[in-house]
Amino acid sequence: MKTSNYLAKLPQEVTIKSIETHQGYDSFTLEKQRLCPHCGSVHCVIKDSGALQTVRHIPINNRGTELSFHKRRLLCKDCNTTFYETPYWIHPSLHMTWALYDSILLDLMEPIPQTEIAKKNCVTESIVQSVLKTINFGLPAHLPETINIDEFKGNSGVWSQKHHKWYLNKYHCNISDGDSHAVIDVLDQISTAYLHKYFQQFSLEERKHVKYFCCDMSNGFVSLAKKDFPNAKICIDPFHVINRLNDMVDDVRRRYQHEFQEKGETENYKKIKSHTPFKNKAG
Ligand SMILES: [Zn+2]
Repeated sequence: MKTSNYLAKLPQEVTIKSIETHQGYDSFTLEKQRLCPHCGSVHCVIKDSGALQTVRHIPINNRGTELSFHKRRLLCKDCNTTFYETPYWIHPSLHMTWALYDSILLDLMEPIPQTEIAKKNCVTESIVQSVLKTINFGLPAHLPETINIDEFKGNSGVWSQKHHKWYLNKYHCNISDGDSHAVIDVLDQISTAYLHKYFQQFSLEERKHVKYFCCDMSNGFVSLAKKDFPNAKICIDPFHVINRLNDMVDDVRRRYQHEFQEKGETENYKKIKSHTPFKNKAG
């Protein structure tokens, strides 16, 4: 076993030819064993030395690591096939090793900010974002009888490579099964057009099965329910009703408070000021 490969978490079939030290990261130049993916033979000759490929790897000694190697075209002398090398330890679409991909993915499961994950793995935040983007749970197979829908504040968004900045969505949308209380999906936008497009992915038959659509009083949700769920009863969540009533009572209280202050009725002003209603800011 090659100890250097073991310590650098590299597969045994590569050889580290050289290591260059740069500011903040190290660059490894590798040579790969010639191996036929069809018959497993090592009797392969190089047809084309190919372009130099550079991928990112997990940090070694808290320093970022870059791996460089030639993506060659080989001919197997045993089974007579030609092929381009596609190392199994490199992610097929992201410029990184599976080891780094797995490390970032495991960190994404923890409640830690993406900036911390980037720092821990010695990569940029956009690389963490590119791993996050590969996770796709797909559409739920069925819609529940009771849909609960609500917005929440978040900070997810889209990274624009062109403008080199984040386009953040202030509000996101949570959709859950009102009976089992399981989360069905989390969407990064709440516009009616976006939600309409989302629910249109389910067949009309599927949408007809929805009996109750629970939401707040926002016009967007209500019109969406009318448009997309022909058989659903629209239920305004009691939490939002109570919250709205609380707001209205508070408006009146504040109006009087202001009036008493203007008139100099200190006694009344003090009495009413102490009656601030309980406010629940969740949801
Ligand atoms: Zn072969």
